[in-house]
Amino acid sequence: MPAIVTIDGPAGSGKSTAARLLAGRLGFDFLDTGAMYRAVALSCVAEGTCLNDADAIAGTALGRSISLEGERVLLDGRDVTAEIRSSEVTEAASVVAVVPEVRELLVSSQRGWASGRNVVTEGRDQGTIVFPDAMCKFFLTADPAERAARRQRELQEVGQPVSLDEMLGLIHERDERDATRETGPLVAAEDAAVIDTTGLTMEEVVELLEDRVRQRMAQQQQQ
Ligand code: C5P
Repeated sequence: MPAIVTIDGPAGSGKSTAARLLAGRLGFDFLDTGAMYRAVALSCVAEGTCLNDADAIAGTALGRSISLEGERVLLDGRDVTAEIRSSEVTEAASVVAVVPEVRELLVSSQRGWASGRNVVTEGRDQGTIVFPDAMCKFFLTADPAERAARRQRELQEVGQPVSLDEMLGLIHERDERDATRETGPLVAAEDAAVIDTTGLTMEEVVELLEDRVRQRMAQQQQQ
């Protein structure tokens, strides 16, 4: 049976990088579910869809085709991998992610994408809603100041400087929206291992995750 490893957590917890590296080490495929919400957000921004209108957002999402090919994100066949990382799309993504029809659509694409594959998937609801029977579940957290500093560095690298205070505010706002929505909120699954990555290097985080996954795989082989 194909194996699923889920990594959920708030923005800047290091889950994307950790998930990508872990997938590489295990020889699994990597699924970045945030990229899907970002692609819906980009559609809305491009079409001028009102972000206060859930029906309009759902309509835009249903009318577009989003696919992930390796690390590339395609929107109606067009490569939008870089475009979906802008600050505007980042903010809009957490707004469109509140809409239940959008979540329903993307949850079903995520299950379809993972079908028949060994996958490391990352997002907010992977262990709770999308893959409740996953072989291994993780929830990564980190101190808000460290998360803001990490996101600030990432944005600086792509030429979008932002102050630490502003980043802290934005992260707080996004976490709040993610944690308080009714459908698929940001929460650790009951059976997830919660890992605080504050002060850990990425190498240490990935090592820890890999050890746990390999232990779990060994247990399953004995059963
Ligand atoms: O992880 P990333 O920052 O790329 O996610 C962008 C936004 O998409 C998040 O702020 C969150 O609101 C939403 N998201 C979600 N559920 C997921 C993945 C992302 O709601 N599984």
